[in-house]
Amino acid sequence: MSEIRIHVFHTGEVCVAPDLPFGGDDCNAVKASGVFGKKEDRLWLPVSAYLIEHPKGKFLVDTGWAREMSPNGEFDKKAQIKSLGSLILYEVNQGRIGAGECIDEQLLKMGIRDSDIDAVLLTHLDCDHANGLVQVKGAKKFLVSADEVRFANKITNKIRYYKGWWKETPLTEFEWNDTQGPVGRSYDLLGDRSIELINIPGHADGLFAVKVKNEEGKFVLLFSDGGYARKSWEELITSGIAADKQLQKQSLAWIREQSLDPDCVESLANHDPDIQPHVIEL
Ligand SMILES: [Zn+2]
Repeated sequence: MSEIRIHVFHTGEVCVAPDLPFGGDDCNAVKASGVFGKKEDRLWLPVSAYLIEHPKGKFLVDTGWAREMSPNGEFDKKAQIKSLGSLILYEVNQGRIGAGECIDEQLLKMGIRDSDIDAVLLTHLDCDHANGLVQVKGAKKFLVSADEVRFANKITNKIRYYKGWWKETPLTEFEWNDTQGPVGRSYDLLGDRSIELINIPGHADGLFAVKVKNEEGKFVLLFSDGGYARKSWEELITSGIAADKQLQKQSLAWIREQSLDPDCVESLANHDPDIQPHVIEL
């Protein structure tokens, strides 16, 4: 009988310019932001979050959007600007979250309260991953890499990372304690390598993929924004906005190698439009 279950949720959608996820090596951040692009070319992509039910606890990976982004379950410009912290960030990415789609609303349908969550694992601190922290503020812990907090504190990232998203949920920072992944930096969450948080820098300095492994060595890789879809690692397509494209490429090459491993059961990008909510038994 499988002992680990991973629930894949869609917690609303994010709207971005097409160059943001798939801009490639020659795309610059201004083009990728879409601020000067055609609004009708924009893409609506799913925003995922995951619940790992493991013999040693319940772990939530990312949070999706907060209810305050769409108080009535509909697109709401004013509410978004307030929740995102600035008009500029709203211009780069908009979000919407329908009624019943917030992570806590979906967990409650399964009989799970935020206080049942042993740790929220934040792959990085971008809005579509951390804006919904307030929905699960009763969780026992909120873990993020110290590298990501240092990155978020840079003056140049003031708009990208709005501190209001985690004002009610003090973050616990960790330093890497293991050596897996493309840059040899990872965090062994439970001390048995069954859940490893693996640094895949490029999109953001402290970004991590979550590798969940069972006793037979079969694993699931949740690679967050290391790539935006399956084709990102298949064709090594970098995104338009990246803190470091060279590193992003190195991370994508590693995601590719992992995804092609015969022991890899599923390999999932956070915003892949081809992935539907489902449950993985591991
Ligand atoms: Zn994202």
